[in-house]
Amino acid sequence: MKNRLTEELLSYNTENGTHGLSVLTDEPMSSHTTFKIGGPADYFITPKTEESLVFVLSKLKESGVRYFIVGKGSNVLFSDDGFTGAVVSTSAIDSVKVDGDVITAGCGASLTSVARTAARYSLSGLEFAFGIPGSVGGAVYMNAGAYGGEMSFVVSVTRSIDPVSGEIKTYKKEDHKFGYRESVFRRIDDVVLSTELRLSSGDRRSIENMMADYLERRQQKQPLEYPSAGSVFKRCEGRFTGQMIEEAGLKGLTVGGARVSEKHAGFIINIGGATANDVLTLIEMIKETVYARFGCFLECELIYVR
Ligand SMILES: Cc1cc2nc3c(=O)[nH]c(=O)nc-3n(C[C@H](O)[C@H](O)[C@H](O)COP(=O)(O)OP(=O)(O)OC[C@H]3O[C@@H](n4cnc5c(N)ncnc54)[C@H](O)[C@@H]3O)c2cc1C
Repeated sequence: MKNRLTEELLSYNTENGTHGLSVLTDEPMSSHTTFKIGGPADYFITPKTEESLVFVLSKLKESGVRYFIVGKGSNVLFSDDGFTGAVVSTSAIDSVKVDGDVITAGCGASLTSVARTAARYSLSGLEFAFGIPGSVGGAVYMNAGAYGGEMSFVVSVTRSIDPVSGEIKTYKKEDHKFGYRESVFRRIDDVVLSTELRLSSGDRRSIENMMADYLERRQQKQPLEYPSAGSVFKRCEGRFTGQMIEEAGLKGLTVGGARVSEKHAGFIINIGGATANDVLTLIEMIKETVYARFGCFLECELIYVR
């Protein structure tokens, strides 16, 4: 089965060559996530273009193989048992085009690179995104945000594919139904193909200064020296989650190779050899303690995949 599907997928390359796709089998997800955790996926497929992504999705549908889309893998925790099915990475679909004050980015483009491009063209609005280690598709899906900004402020149009019908759809700003770490894409199966970001013209030096300031704040406050998936939990009504975890005395709490960061209690870090089970156990301990102390039920921002 594995060989047959791999062959069928790779047949796409005969006509499309370098615009095709790559297929790895039994590929450890620890190599494709910022947490550096996760067992093997049966298939790890990297389409190089939108067209090859469309082909991959139709082949997977035809063969009945389940799949999961990853961008930069910076908000996911894969199970230690890996993933039965195909993980499809958008990382190679990373075109970035600038037209006036609109940037159109492929789903796999790095958010930080797009923010850098915006600065180069003196376009303001994406400063907040500098340093978020995700892809544009992942950021739209999550409505990623920081320092008072979020994707919903700048996204104007998104193109996606419905993997069941194969239809290419266009979402206008209001169709995204953005909320706190929410978008319509969390509720449907569409795969984001590309997004238009509407920015405004500004002063290049001020934009770059703001980005440098945000990056410095990240370096000072976040444990960037360790693998992680960023903030594990969503905000809790009117309270800072990290502060509650800290006040509950949980900084430094360790299970196996997973630890509540001493630098930022909202982060769980992989201090070496952490398993997904270590992280999940730690998450449960944090949730229970914070609930007992503050009566606040923490919800995960991190997405667990198995
Ligand atoms: C050190 C660190 C700092 C971080 N700081 C921030 C921060 O300040 N603010 C913030 O909001 N987040 C932050 N994050 C979390 C993360 O970077 C963001 O949520 C980011 O938007 C996820 O993008 P990704 O490409 O890595 O998505 P992935 O982790 O690959 O995927 C996340 C979800 O998006 C879905 N997805 C990805 N691409 C597509 C697509 N093309 N179409 C449909 N669905 C898709 C996946 O299926 C999955 O469900 C941080 C993470 C780290 C490690």
